[in-house]
Amino acid sequence: MTKVIAIGAGHGYNTPGKRTPDGEREWSFNNKVVGAAIDYLKKYEDVKIVRLDDPSGKRDVPLSERTDKANQANADVLVSYHHNANTGNWGTWGGTETYTYVGNWKGAEALAKEVHNRVVKAMGLRDRGLKKANFHMLRESKMSAILVEGGFMDSKTDIKKMRDDNVLKKVGQAVAEGIADHLNLKKKPEPKPKPKSNVFYRVVTGSFNDKENAEQRVAELKKKGFDSFIDVYKK
Ligand SMILES: [Zn+2]
Repeated sequence: MTKVIAIGAGHGYNTPGKRTPDGEREWSFNNKVVGAAIDYLKKYEDVKIVRLDDPSGKRDVPLSERTDKANQANADVLVSYHHNANTGNWGTWGGTETYTYVGNWKGAEALAKEVHNRVVKAMGLRDRGLKKANFHMLRESKMSAILVEGGFMDSKTDIKKMRDDNVLKKVGQAVAEGIADHLNLKKKPEPKPKPKSNVFYRVVTGSFNDKENAEQRVAELKKKGFDSFIDVYKK
C-alpha cells in the first residue's frame, strides 16, 4: 500500500520576522532540509509525497490550507520543518527540539522520536528533547504530525550549521530515514551497473580487391557524412 507523506517548509520566503539577525530567511533553511528529504524519500517504494508549502517560497501558504491538503490526501504522517528564534539578536543559546500535539499521541510521539534523534545527530547541536505544543499544524491534522525546530536562527553556534548546505542535506536525509523507519518503507532496488567490456564492434561496409573501389566507397560515405578509413589486410 502506498504511504502518503505530507511535508512542508515552515512559512514563505517573505514572511515578516522569520529571519536571522543578518536577514537570512527561515524559509530558505527549512526549504533546503525539506527538498533534500523529498529527494531522499523518492528512493523508497510506494511513496506519495504531498508538499504543503510553496516550493518557490513566493507564497506563505496559510496553515489551514496546509492541514486541509494533508487531511484531504489522507496522509499517513505530517512533518513541518522549522528553525527557531529566541530574541532575534545573536546569542549563545541553541539546539534541536521536536513537537507533537498536547496529550498522548503514540503514533506522533514514535515518529517524533525516530526523526528527532536523527536530526540531532545530523545537526550536531544540543538536544532540547521532545516537546508538546498546541500548534495549528499538530492540532488540525488527522494523521501523526510533528514539527521540528532544527536549530536557532539567532544562535551564533547553530547558524554555522544552518549556513552549511552539506549539513542541511544530511538533515534532510535524516528526516527521510526517520519517516521511512516509522512507516517501514522499503528502498527501491539500486539500478545494476552495466558490465564493462573490452569488446568493440566495428562497422564494415565492404571488402575490395581493388584499392580504387575501396577509395570510392570512402568518398561515398564521406558525401553522406560518415567518417571511414581503409584498413589493409591479407587473406
Ligand atoms: Zn518557523
